[in-house]
Amino acid sequence: MTTLIENAHILTMDNRREIPNGCVLVDDGKIAYVGRRTELPQRAAPDAVLDGKGGILLPGFVNAHTHLAMTLLRGYGSDLNLQDWLTKKIFPAEDRLQTGDCATAARVGIAECLLGGTTTFSDMYMFMDETARVVRESGIRAVLCRGMTAGDGFEERLADATRLYRDYHGHADGRISVMLCIHAEYTNTEHTVRRIVDEAGRLSAGIHVHLAETRAEVDGCRQRYGVTPAQWMDNLGVFARPVTAAHTVWLSDGDIQILAEKGVHAVHNPASNMKLASGVAPVQRMLDAGVNVALGTDGASSNNTLNMLRETQLAALLGKLSAMDPTAVDAYTALQMATLGGARALGLGDVCGSIEVGKDADLILLDTSKPWWAPRHEAAAQIVYAASTEDITMTMVRGRILMQNRQVKTIDVPAAMEQMQTVTQHLY
Ligand SMILES: [Zn+2]
Repeated sequence: MTTLIENAHILTMDNRREIPNGCVLVDDGKIAYVGRRTELPQRAAPDAVLDGKGGILLPGFVNAHTHLAMTLLRGYGSDLNLQDWLTKKIFPAEDRLQTGDCATAARVGIAECLLGGTTTFSDMYMFMDETARVVRESGIRAVLCRGMTAGDGFEERLADATRLYRDYHGHADGRISVMLCIHAEYTNTEHTVRRIVDEAGRLSAGIHVHLAETRAEVDGCRQRYGVTPAQWMDNLGVFARPVTAAHTVWLSDGDIQILAEKGVHAVHNPASNMKLASGVAPVQRMLDAGVNVALGTDGASSNNTLNMLRETQLAALLGKLSAMDPTAVDAYTALQMATLGGARALGLGDVCGSIEVGKDADLILLDTSKPWWAPRHEAAAQIVYAASTEDITMTMVRGRILMQNRQVKTIDVPAAMEQMQTVTQHLY
């Protein structure tokens, strides 16, 4: 199956290359050509042609840190401090979660991803078999990990995480990959971290962690161990594995150096950090030190969306304000964090995240016919500062169109939303 997407302004996102009136040829799910239409090599007519109508073609967004099933708790317990929100609202509701609830949440969450141009998400939660099933059905790409904390049942949870890796890693035509998880320093012990690192080494798996999200986390770690959470994880060998570290708000200069030297990927979650008043991640300083920075929405319970376009805009605006420098976190950089930076953070840098020949065709199309697109100057700046999610008219993963003209093709969205309403009745 070949598809030609033509008449689009292409941002490839692997470098600052832009191709006006460009086209992309997709062959068997992979990008076979990207360039000017006039230079497309002669070959057999494509099976399908998609007219970009002068809009913008981008690689799909990579949401590098979320808790997809927390769409169940969207809007529940807003405007509380982190501790009250977790202990009085989130944890009691999560205790009432039942098998099947997460599949419902995954359908609503993945539909929101596809409507928002997200082609890959990285998920940390429970009931991952249900999420994997919906990933398989819906056609999206996902990196899954089972949340890991110390305490009763740790060995069973670790065995379950290992089983998850064996059952799903590389499955669904390679659309599913699996990582191990260290939920955070404050929910684990030296023993559990060592066990997880050993297991990750045995499986050759990456590890997804929460790192230095709040000042309280860093203060607590210093009291417990006399070091920062980044130093603590480094000392325990965590960073010898490929690591995706969410939040990375309260980092010392030494911590940033560790992340840079060990190749730890940071995931910036500006909406969640602002809503929970956790603090501002030092994004420009991390970039300057050579740390790969990705973007994530965190769960929809602390965001309250899975909207990567909004996250990209917030990353640029907050990056400038916190650095008191309007040149910090420029639009192209923010957009690259949302695409290629995310793919690299998830070990998928050779698979997706940019529009390059040989990569999978994970693509989105933006319609630029609305007034906020006039006049058209710098495409990246216009996407980051002016575009609306409603402008995204097509989402494709591995060459398959999963959303077109604001309609999700692989999920019955009204039915999933109705079911969500029923499920939440027993949660709170
Ligand atoms: Zn999180």
